[in-house]
Amino acid sequence: MRLKDRLLTAFFIMIVIPILLICITAGTIVRLQTDSIQKNYDVEADTIQIITNPIQILNRVTRGTYNEIKLTALKTPEILEDTEYIKKLNEELHNKYSFIAVRKNDEFIYCGDSKKLFIISDNLQKFGVYSTDATDVDGGIYIGGKNPFLVKAQDFYFSDGGEGTIFVITDLNTLFPQIKAVAVQSVISFLAIICFTAMILMLWIYQSILRPLNTLRVGMNQIKDGDLDYSVESETEDEIGQLCDDFEEMRIRLKEQIDRRLQYEEDIKELISNISHDLKTPLTAIKGYSEGLLDGVADTPQKQEKYLKTIFTKANDMSILVDELAFYAKIDCNTIPYSFKEINICDYFDDCIEELGLDLEVKNIEIRYQNVIDPSTCVVADAEQLKRVINNIIGNAVKYIDKKKGIIQIRLIDTGTFIQVEIEDNGIGIPKVDIPYIFDRFYRADASRNSKKGGSGLGLAISKKIIEDHSGKIWAESEYGIGTTIIFTLKKDIKKRTDGIKYIPRRKGL
Ligand code: ADP
Repeated sequence: MRLKDRLLTAFFIMIVIPILLICITAGTIVRLQTDSIQKNYDVEADTIQIITNPIQILNRVTRGTYNEIKLTALKTPEILEDTEYIKKLNEELHNKYSFIAVRKNDEFIYCGDSKKLFIISDNLQKFGVYSTDATDVDGGIYIGGKNPFLVKAQDFYFSDGGEGTIFVITDLNTLFPQIKAVAVQSVISFLAIICFTAMILMLWIYQSILRPLNTLRVGMNQIKDGDLDYSVESETEDEIGQLCDDFEEMRIRLKEQIDRRLQYEEDIKELISNISHDLKTPLTAIKGYSEGLLDGVADTPQKQEKYLKTIFTKANDMSILVDELAFYAKIDCNTIPYSFKEINICDYFDDCIEELGLDLEVKNIEIRYQNVIDPSTCVVADAEQLKRVINNIIGNAVKYIDKKKGIIQIRLIDTGTFIQVEIEDNGIGIPKVDIPYIFDRFYRADASRNSKKGGSGLGLAISKKIIEDHSGKIWAESEYGIGTTIIFTLKKDIKKRTDGIKYIPRRKGL
């Protein structure tokens, strides 16, 4: 769930759940307390009435006793002079927060609760009159103020002719404890429900927001401390989950960058060590032979010529190595200004073979050329750099041919999207273990064998980079002792261009 939806849901939960729970709880509390009121006070009333008009209900509580008094006053008023009878009535009312008071003329001759009577006595109605500041409530008179009471009165005459009034007084201050309980329980329930809802929401928010944020924070701290292997897994699909995914992507990229930088630093170190080694070997030879010349060790013209030739060859090797290094540095930094043109691949290779044939004939190497592709097939390539690749592969083939009769076969195959160029020799071959590494810079299979042959170990690395820059691939297949095939692909120019510069083949050499 998205964070926005989550907040909306949280909002609804915050509103709806407390309202719902409060309604259910309040309903249950009121119901239970109403039942209790009905049972304890023996009154028939519905819940609404009890809540909205408790005075009316209290009025009903004493209705039975009051009616009995009324009847007695009419029929047998002398009974009302009987203190025992009055006491009994008073006891009946005791549990109903009410008491009896009997007044004879202006004197109270009986009182169930003198303290309360003291508060109210001035407001009680005179014999035969209703109090002016009182309100009639269904047979009873409500006397308001700080201490509200409900008073029911019945006038009668004593047997000696005295004016008597019997009061049934209900203390409204105490109301029903059940009603108070309803209020208290409702408030407690309300608070409990609010706390409960808030807790549920807090847990939910913690689970969905704070926990992932915490995981993210831990991940960030790990990265800050340099631990780039600490991965942060997103558990949700929301914005925070997306943030975790972005963070994870950032970590992976950062790690890749750092790994690349470390690898680069390693490569630089290796490069420097290789360069110094490769330069040191011919330099030592040059130094030795020139010392021989200076010291007069080479005392015959033949020896001197041999020494000078060796110095020349070694200096030449160094020059080639420096050139290749300079070129490799350029190609590695992508600073080779390629000049891509549409090339007719058949014309291009025809020229190539023509030129190579002359060189190879001298070395007793036969060149076999097999071209089965459509003569109009074109590729987009840099003719000069492509030539560098072909020369390097053929140069290696020539260098590593160990048979009396060297054979180099060049095949052009159309694979659909690509033109596949295969250059096969019948040379010494490459041991299986070395094949995956021969395109690495400075890698030379079987170093002892190669030290005699010379070479920088950069040729195939340069070729690989050039072919990859042409969106092609290069690989080797070889059997040790039998021969090697270097294969590379060039993307065909499907949409033949009718405009632009085209490669114009030379008839004599490239
Ligand atoms: P080098 O200048 O040493 O030839 P390359 O990068 O051109 O460097 O080749 C890397 C290594 O691959 C060589 O040292 C050699 O061991 C091996 N190799 C490449 N081509 C051939 C081949 N045609 N026959 C045998 N080994 C080869």
